[in-house]
Amino acid sequence: MSTVHYPLSIYDLLIIGAGPAGIAAAYESKKAGLEYVVIEKGLIGNTVYNYPVGLTVFSTTNELEFNDGDLKPAREKPTREELLSYYVRFVLDNELNVRTEEAVLEVRKEEFPAKTQRREDEGEADFKVVSDKGEYLARNVLFAIGAMDYPRKLNVPGEDLQKVSDHFHETYPWVKKHALIVGGGNSAGEAALFLAQEGAETTLAIFRADWENNDPKQGCIKYWVKQPLEEELNEHCLKLFFLGKVVEIREKEVELESENGDRVVIENDVVFVLIGSDADLTMMKDLGVETETGKAGEVPVYDPETFETNVPGIYVAGHFTHQRHIKGAIDAAKTLVPKLAEKQKGAKISA
Ligand SMILES: Cc1cc2nc3c(=O)[nH]c(=O)nc-3n(C[C@H](O)[C@H](O)[C@H](O)COP(=O)(O)OP(=O)(O)OC[C@H]3O[C@@H](n4cnc5c(N)ncnc54)[C@H](O)[C@@H]3O)c2cc1C
Repeated sequence: MSTVHYPLSIYDLLIIGAGPAGIAAAYESKKAGLEYVVIEKGLIGNTVYNYPVGLTVFSTTNELEFNDGDLKPAREKPTREELLSYYVRFVLDNELNVRTEEAVLEVRKEEFPAKTQRREDEGEADFKVVSDKGEYLARNVLFAIGAMDYPRKLNVPGEDLQKVSDHFHETYPWVKKHALIVGGGNSAGEAALFLAQEGAETTLAIFRADWENNDPKQGCIKYWVKQPLEEELNEHCLKLFFLGKVVEIREKEVELESENGDRVVIENDVVFVLIGSDADLTMMKDLGVETETGKAGEVPVYDPETFETNVPGIYVAGHFTHQRHIKGAIDAAKTLVPKLAEKQKGAKISA
């Protein structure tokens, strides 16, 4: 692969990730007159791109759009395709500066004297950002990296077999095949529903507590997914297995332990392990960003008003913070960028 070297202009804000948080931040940066760039290792809206084909998302349009009334799905809630098209069109129509298929590998603090002195010299930056295609200088960096980097594992024998996947994309390869879904959240529920409805021999292996959990705040299976799942159960198109643990995945079968400790072996062609994923916080931690362990796992510590971390100039927004959903990701960007722009203007005026 050839290396592309970009000229080292200094950005007011370098945004890592072009999901809803990163796109909203780019849009706000453009409105505020900031010099900005978004570096995205995949495609625009990459996480949405990876949703199952044909999925209807659970949020309403006002929770997903950047401007009120922009997103106009055919039905009440948009499909993956409608949402993705909206995000991509939004970037194109607003001519947002997004570079795709370029991964940020490292963010380094530049060694300069104290911040006020530095601002007197327009030629200096705070951070050097290294990607797999080039290097950038930026005064501020926004991590909008989502939380999809490390899919959680069962850590059982056979999990490395080719038929085991941490991601469900579509049903058709699995029609008439024996599919096992392991997981207790909405993604697992949706995958089980798609597969059962389209004619796969589907088993959902789930902890009883997850199946019986109806509290929408706790990331359980949404009721509009659960109801049709119950119909599939009644029609014997879906099997439910109350899980103790997965014992072993083998080429043609899977061994499970039930909640009562009984062992069963079921015929199997494909396993979807949909038990969540975690963000890669390494770059932030290397910069000295502090983290804390919350309900959703490890999250960076940040000021809830400004979204700045303990490292001045390093900001966070989106899925890997306390805001797990798209609305929170967009709102964070809409809040933080105008504040950052004000600060930046102040710094330039005092220089
Ligand atoms: C199947 C499914 C359905 C969902 N449905 C909904 C829903 O209906 N409503 C809702 O609110 N939420 C939903 N979610 C959750 C939603 O997708 C996230 O809340 C949302 O994507 C968060 O946006 P974000 O911008 O923070 O992160 P992301 O959308 O994950 O964007 C982060 C981006 O950063 C990029 N990136 C990461 N590391 C780097 C790097 N080192 N260099 C460059 N780029 C990098 C990634 O490629 C990614 O594109 C769903 C999730 C799934 C899996």
